[in-house]
This record gives sequence, structure tokens and C-alpha cells, in this order.
Amino acid sequence: MPFIKYLKCSRCGRKYFLNEKPVMCKNNDLGRLDIYYDYEGIKDAVSREELSKRPFSMWRYYEFLPLSSKENIVSLGEGGTPLIKAKRLGEKLGLKNLYLKDETRNPTGSFKDRAMSVAVSMARELGFTKAATASSGNAAAALAAYGARAGIDVIAFVVDFAPYGKIAQLLFYGAKVFRVKWTTAEDPTVKMLKLVVEKYGFYPSPSFGPFNPYQIEGPKTISFEIVEQLGWSIPDQVFVPTGAAALLTGVYNGFRDFNMVGWINGYPKMVAVQSTGNAPFVRAWVEKQDPMNIRPWEKPPETIATGLEDTFPWDGDAGLKALYSTGGYGVAVEDDLILESMKMLASLEGLFAEPSGAAGLAGLIQAIRDGRVDKDETVVVLVTGHGLKDPDIVKKTAGDAPVINPVEEEFVEKLREFYKVVL
Ligand SMILES: *Cc1c(COP(=O)(O)O)cnc(C)c1O
Repeated sequence: MPFIKYLKCSRCGRKYFLNEKPVMCKNNDLGRLDIYYDYEGIKDAVSREELSKRPFSMWRYYEFLPLSSKENIVSLGEGGTPLIKAKRLGEKLGLKNLYLKDETRNPTGSFKDRAMSVAVSMARELGFTKAATASSGNAAAALAAYGARAGIDVIAFVVDFAPYGKIAQLLFYGAKVFRVKWTTAEDPTVKMLKLVVEKYGFYPSPSFGPFNPYQIEGPKTISFEIVEQLGWSIPDQVFVPTGAAALLTGVYNGFRDFNMVGWINGYPKMVAVQSTGNAPFVRAWVEKQDPMNIRPWEKPPETIATGLEDTFPWDGDAGLKALYSTGGYGVAVEDDLILESMKMLASLEGLFAEPSGAAGLAGLIQAIRDGRVDKDETVVVLVTGHGLKDPDIVKKTAGDAPVINPVEEEFVEKLREFYKVVL
């Protein structure tokens, strides 16, 4: 059995045990069923030394995850991503200890694979054969891939402006995909998700907690890995691109779990980054809103960071508490800075990220300008999604490459004209 004592609704406090197969709170209050672990049991079952002998994948942290049987694990080799010391980028920004956690290397190209590996494994354990999601694209692509692997049918409602890279993945993974038009502030994909869950009995598997409490356990393993990769030490600040704030919550929970078993002592500052075109969570932090009463964004999102488009941060309650309790903060960044960050990641470190994936770096640059980062601090930036998911963004800003006939003169001329280089 997993080391879970019980689950408890974050809104009404109703308790559930795992044998009741809970997914959403029965009181219909859209609280999240937070999982309470038996840390004494975990401590007896596994040690730091034992861990270090296992393969470097997110499932090496099995005891901290909600599965009852290893046989139900649905894996495509997610997690175990590199923590890259960014020397050139660090020099440019004046930081001595800058690290990039490269989540673009996950099987479908985003960290959402960690979440969906856990969610689909749990679907198998709970006996579901069909699952549905509401997503801006990445969570849906991940669910579709793991669903394919497990033989679970997937219906995906994605926002109408989702980049085609993500739609392409979804279609060939075999999901039934719908682009849903966004007209009012309310997220229309969530409306459709509720419909198929309530009326047609689908397993709800979006990447936010009130609809699925298990997936949020996946991103915990990002922090576990960071701690191990830093030689069992804690960074000073971690920059997290934020939409629903499930990632932020998961990453915080990872540090919490390692504190609870006594393997580390303390927390990094958790830093949430959003685009100024949709920043309900950062606004909640700025205005010190009550975590249980976060005000949704008033209109549809306007940003190139389509992965951060949640107008209501579903896990914002836990996310805000994570900022408050670690001395962290929120940063809103302009789309231009996100684009600049994409270029810097690619041209200085060889890392190609989509806009949402590079938003963490944009947040760091803004935080440096605001005087919130010391040059000696150990800073980790999560790079969350691959650039090939949304190549159109590059085309819109950088244009296309020049076309030439295979002759020297044209090469030299275009090199000068287009790239401003003279040989
Ligand atoms: C989903 C997503 C995020 C944000 O995660 P939330 O849990 O919604 O806050 C960040 N980056 C990428 C690439 C994503 O797909």
C-alpha cells in the first residue's frame, strides 16, 4: 500500500481514504483532495542511500507517490531531466550559480508528462478506461500519450488558439480533440470537461488539483531531483512559470516532503511568473488576496505564453501559501521579455523553449531588475516546454531564413543583408 494516511478537501475539509477511490470532492465545492502522507512510514521504507542506487527517473521516488502497485505504473521515461549549469547565460545576467532544469526533454516535450504519468497510472489503478482533459495543449498532449500507452481513451478540450505543434501531437496520439472557442472570461475547456465527467463518467485528468489530486504529485519529483542534483542542498530561489499553479504547488510540495522526512532543512523562495496579459495569480500575491478567494482574470488571456492561460488559478490557494511561507513572490512579465528570454536560452545555452517554457527566465530577468536576486545566490529556473511545440512564434518575430541559389555571391550578400555578418 502507498504511504498515504488520507486525502482531505482543501475547501470543506471532508476526509477520504484511498479505498474509496476518490478523485473529486463529493461536496461539489471544487476543493482539491490534498494527500496526507505517512512520513514515518516512508522514512522506514527508504533512505537517501537506497534512493541513490535506483535509476534516475521520477519513479525512483515511488514511496512519495500515490500508487498502490508498481504494476500499474504507466511510463514513457519521464523525469530524470538534467539540471544544467548555465555559464554563458549566468555571465550575461551577472549570476554565479544559475541552473536550468530542462523539462523540455520529457517524452512529449513538457513537464506535464510527470503529472500525467501519475494520473494515468492512477486511472489504471482505479479502473477507469476513458479520460478527459481541459488544457491549453501540453497537459492534453501528455494525457493522450500516456493514455495511448495504457489503452485508455482520451477526449481533449483545448483552447481554440492552442499552437498546432500540440494539436499535431494530440491527433496522432489518438485523442479525440476539440478546439473550444473562448468568448467570455470563464475557461470554456473546463466547462466541457465538467460536462463529460458528470454526464458521461470520464476520469477527469486535467493538470489542476480540484479535478484530479494525483497528477499534482508528479511535479513534486522536479524538486526531489533538483535537491539531489545539487548534492542534497536547497537552492535559494526557484522560478516557476505559472498558470493554474499546479506546478508551483507540486514543486513546493516536493521540498515539503523532503523536509518532512528530514532529508533537507528549509525551502527555497518560490517565485511564480506570469505574463502581464493574464496574471490573476501574481495579482493575488501583489494584493495579498485571501488564498481561498482569488479573483479570476476579467477577460480572455492575451499572451504568447499560451501554456499559462488559466484565467483562474485552480491551485492558487496552495500556490499563494507556498509564496507566503517561503518568502517568495510573484512576477508579471511582458511578452517581449518572454521572446527575448527564448532567444537567450536558445542562443546562449542551446535550449529551445516555447514561450511558456521560457517565462521562468523572463521572470528571473525582471526580478534582477527589481533588485530581488543577489549575484551569489543559487537560482534554478524551470524550463517547462519545448520550442518545437510553437515554432510559429519564432517565424512571427525572426521571419524565415533567406533563400539563395547555390552560388558564393548570393551567400555573401545575404549573410551581410540578413545576418549582418561580413566574412
Ligand atoms: C502547464 C504549463 C505551465 C504552468 O503550469 P501550471 O500548473 O498550469 O501553473 C508552465 N509551462 C508550460 C510549458 C506548461 O505547459
